[in-house]
Amino acid sequence: MVTAIHRPTWVSVDLDAAAHNLQEIREWTKAKKVYAVLKADGYGLGAIPLAKAFQETASADALIVSNLDEALELRQADLTLPIWVLGAWDYSDLKLFIDHDIVITIPSLAWLQNLPDFEGTLKVSLAIDTGMTRIGFDKADEISAAKKIIDKNPQLDLFSVYTHFATADEAGEKSKAYFEEQLRRWQELTINQGFDPSLFSMANSATCIWHHDDPRISFAAIRPGQLISGVNVSNGELKMPPNLHLERIFSVCSEIADVRFVKKDQSLSYGASERMPEDGYVATLPFGYNDGWLRRMQKSSVIINGKRMPIIGRITMDQTMVKLDRKYPIGTRVTLIGKDGGEQITVEEVANYSHTIVDEIQTTLAPRIKRIYTGDLAEVIGANYG
Ligand SMILES: *Cc1c(COP(=O)(O)O)cnc(C)c1O
Repeated sequence: MVTAIHRPTWVSVDLDAAAHNLQEIREWTKAKKVYAVLKADGYGLGAIPLAKAFQETASADALIVSNLDEALELRQADLTLPIWVLGAWDYSDLKLFIDHDIVITIPSLAWLQNLPDFEGTLKVSLAIDTGMTRIGFDKADEISAAKKIIDKNPQLDLFSVYTHFATADEAGEKSKAYFEEQLRRWQELTINQGFDPSLFSMANSATCIWHHDDPRISFAAIRPGQLISGVNVSNGELKMPPNLHLERIFSVCSEIADVRFVKKDQSLSYGASERMPEDGYVATLPFGYNDGWLRRMQKSSVIINGKRMPIIGRITMDQTMVKLDRKYPIGTRVTLIGKDGGEQITVEEVANYSHTIVDEIQTTLAPRIKRIYTGDLAEVIGANYG
């Protein structure tokens, strides 16, 4: 896997804006602690620079990733904040968790009961399954048994007791009822268990944004992920609160690599699926579906010179054609996501166009697209070197 550093196609990430967004959400939710979720390489934007920016500004109190390798990558980059791995994990890597001070998730009572002997201290988080039906405890007596085991074992250090909502970003009555049901189960499962409430963690991005004033939800430690990019995590299904001031932190850009004159009716690209509607100019752009700009984006638009221009013909693996309104020089800036002049393409628009969620668009941006970091913090942490 190689990043195309010489190719003029890039994702630009504003680290100051990212740190601002975390601080804003801390104030909005009055959270005591903010655990920044940076799984999937920081939702495609680069976990290491984001983590360093958060550590530098103390805007996060811990980092969350999805697997051990993502955690080790952060440790190797000298991140000293607590790091927590979500998801069930095998015992075979326990030593790596302990040696690198990484929090492991307890997915079930059986996992805890069969935990082999080890040396040192293991930090653990207790997953409570209130309705995701993915990992975690869904019976009060098993939670109480787990708590006894943890309390008795001085080698186990409880980091978090948490749950995850399935429908916090949805507006429908059924979704709201399911959210209520999960809350009811949380109360039933955790009440009278004697947990230190400062360990409770219940809020992902959507819960932070749209349920921030619900007194039944603990904001002791929040877990925002997608929200870090400042987008509407519901794809517009729910409105962003006007007094929550988040900034969009990234854009995706390229440059015209070639321009040609194409006659009316000439067909373009694989399958000859589209013809030129009139005589005119077509630009070839240096990105394709292998960069995450998937074939389903055919006929969507990009911005050139402050105007929308349509993608014409099938998107190929590495190159994409756009119908221009006139001839432009090679090297002209092309915006896939972001602003140019009075025009803007948001990641929500791209997600809606391709019938998916913003998370999928962001995490599909391929590692071969170079990431460029901006803002004062990029300089402070040396994000663009090495
Ligand atoms: C992914 C994830 C998060 C963050 O979710 P967002 O919706 O991106 O904020 C939080 N908690 C858990 C358990 C997750 O899997």
